[in-house]
Amino acid sequence: MEELKALAEDKRIRVRRGGEPVGGRCVVYWMQHAQRAVENPALETAVRVANVLDLPLIVYFGVIANYPNANWRHYHFLAQGLRDVAEDLAERGIEFVVRRSVDGDSLEAFLAEVDAAMVIGDENVCREPERWRRALAARLRIPCWTVDADVVVPSAIFNRSFVLLHHFRPHLKRELETWLKPIPVVEPVRKWDGQKLRGWNLAGEITEGFPAAFDRRVRPVENFTGGTHAGLRRLREFTEGQLADYDEQRNHPEVRGTSQMSPYLHYGHLSPVTIALAAREAGAACVATVEKYLDELIGWRELAVLFVRHNAHYDTWECAEPWAQKTLLAHAGDARPWLYTLEQMERAETHDELWNAAQREMVATGWMHNYMRMYWAKKMLEWSPSVAVGYQWAVELNDRYELDGRDPNGYAGIAWAMVGKHDRPWFDRPVFGLIRYMAGGSTGKKFDSKRYIAQQKDR
Ligand SMILES: Cc1cc2nc3c(=O)[nH]c(=O)nc-3n(C[C@H](O)[C@H](O)[C@H](O)COP(=O)(O)OP(=O)(O)OC[C@H]3O[C@@H](n4cnc5c(N)ncnc54)[C@H](O)[C@@H]3O)c2cc1C
Repeated sequence: MEELKALAEDKRIRVRRGGEPVGGRCVVYWMQHAQRAVENPALETAVRVANVLDLPLIVYFGVIANYPNANWRHYHFLAQGLRDVAEDLAERGIEFVVRRSVDGDSLEAFLAEVDAAMVIGDENVCREPERWRRALAARLRIPCWTVDADVVVPSAIFNRSFVLLHHFRPHLKRELETWLKPIPVVEPVRKWDGQKLRGWNLAGEITEGFPAAFDRRVRPVENFTGGTHAGLRRLREFTEGQLADYDEQRNHPEVRGTSQMSPYLHYGHLSPVTIALAAREAGAACVATVEKYLDELIGWRELAVLFVRHNAHYDTWECAEPWAQKTLLAHAGDARPWLYTLEQMERAETHDELWNAAQREMVATGWMHNYMRMYWAKKMLEWSPSVAVGYQWAVELNDRYELDGRDPNGYAGIAWAMVGKHDRPWFDRPVFGLIRYMAGGSTGKKFDSKRYIAQQKDR
């Protein structure tokens, strides 16, 4: 089928299982990472495929109870987002079905139930989700494509990682304007008029009936509401109120000067394309500041995605470059004046009020300011028995408490802070070796740290 072949040429698309669909009653978009109906290339590709095949599209979301390292806080935010997806898809007349593994449901059973001709998924570079996609494609007997909906420039275009951001920038620059455009919305030609499909009631508590081992200790937070609609509201607030001062305010943890888009990006509630275009439109009078913001949103973020995609050790200290491994091993036996256990750190019981404040912010709000994240991880290297252990603890706490945790940005951020990934060697010093150091005293002088500590006190 020539039209399908032409569609598959799109650099965002990865053909996981080729061939032509034979028969079938519908096309299924297995939504997993890009949890939105707005500016979603995976969804629009699925509509196109369905139109070519003259079939209706059904969007399926499977809730599994054992998503790696996810707890109540994460599922709550996710469920808020699914309600927006349901509303936005209903407006477009597209069928949406949510089912949960605890009710005995699975994607493969669903594909058989609706007699799917083809399945389209989205991409997720993290280890387990990538494994699911491979395993699914290997088992299926119908064509299966996935679409890279998480980044502005499809990662397959670069197909490698980069040591430093300034190595990546020229490559990114060459591609950016081709991809930084609104994604055309495609109208579905056919509607699902088959049997009424059973689905989980979105008004319910998503974790009800989860196994006893499910982690409910980390409770949902109120300061962030999940979903495309809340994300767009926050985006507007940022572009109208704070964007112009972003460059000045972004290193001030005591001020709400950054966009706080990271949870919405992590769940795919918003596309980076939507955010970048909104920033460009609102920031016509402060182009240099917008460029700085896009450098974070696209430059650093997509560098992180490439790192995770191409480094099998992305969540352990072994991801370090050879120079960093060498220097850290050379300093492994250095005296460490403060040593804490994971539990002491988790309870924010260190001698350092600034660090404790950051830890409290994360535990209580599900988010920590970037400047404090750098400091937080560097001190974990300093106060743990070894780089391997400190690294593991940082990943564990970050993934447990941050709403945006379990994300390539988190793995790259920890790697940057603790093992100098995407950074250069600095000056030799105890414990850190050539890894860049941050001292509490000087860090605390760069912003109103007293105010920040006071803000986090009663959390
Ligand atoms: C130790 C450490 C741990 C981190 N853990 C995470 C994490 O778990 N999840 C996560 O999304 N980010 C993480 N980051 C990166 C960064 O701190 C957050 O993305 C940022 O603070 C989110 O706030 P914001 O949306 O207001 O950012 P803004 O400053 O408004 O930036 C907009 C967007 O740009 C991207 N961005 C900004 N800074 C960075 C950066 N340094 N690296 C990569 N992308 C960036 C993010 O997607 C962010 O949402 C971590 C950084 C460090 C040093």
